[in-house]
Amino acid sequence: MKTISKLLLLAFFAYGFVISESNAQKADEFPPLPYSFNALEPYIDQMTMEIHYERHHKAYFNNYRKAIEGTEVEKLSLEQLFVSMSKYPVALRNNGGGHYNHVLFWAVMSPYGGGEPKGKLAEAIKSSFGSFQEFKNLFEEAARTRFGSGWAWLSVEKGDKLFVSSTANQDNPLMDVVDKQGVPILGLDVWEHAYYLKYQNLRGDYISNFWNIVNWDEVSHRYEKAIK
Ligand code: MN
Repeated sequence: MKTISKLLLLAFFAYGFVISESNAQKADEFPPLPYSFNALEPYIDQMTMEIHYERHHKAYFNNYRKAIEGTEVEKLSLEQLFVSMSKYPVALRNNGGGHYNHVLFWAVMSPYGGGEPKGKLAEAIKSSFGSFQEFKNLFEEAARTRFGSGWAWLSVEKGDKLFVSSTANQDNPLMDVVDKQGVPILGLDVWEHAYYLKYQNLRGDYISNFWNIVNWDEVSHRYEKAIK
């Protein structure tokens, strides 16, 4: 093999190693934001992102780690915890939920987002809601009408059907405390801390701008994983 080919091969494996290492997020480490603080401008401003990630999300993460330290829950994944959420203290529900929900929220947004879903997810949206527009209307309504703080979700029920819901505080559809359980694949944070600096009381404008930054590739990936 020529030296150049050997070098290329070596570079390829080294790259693969770095990628797989960086993907292995340890449960006790605060996960990185997948883009810069200003990446979602003008729809979500830099200062909101800094405060939201560095202070709000980090506080949920730290308080969640504190709450599980040295307890039986330490060995459970968040998904395992949520299945039996009603058995555990509310601090765990608020902070475990707060951590999980924000990780999902950062992942389903991207500066290259927007547009419409494709493939299996697009078909499922059509068969579950009639059309993409019908889905958007339902999701926006769920987000707009959530009284106080909470989230709007698109989730997968048993089988491959989708539904829209909203939950209070830091609850999510994986928890056994919500009206309708499922696997969330898209979530929108409608706490005032998520939009107030830029939008003040105009939650509706924040919600309609969300569509410009939805990372449909990531949502599709989560959908296909959920129906396996
Ligand atoms: Mn938040």
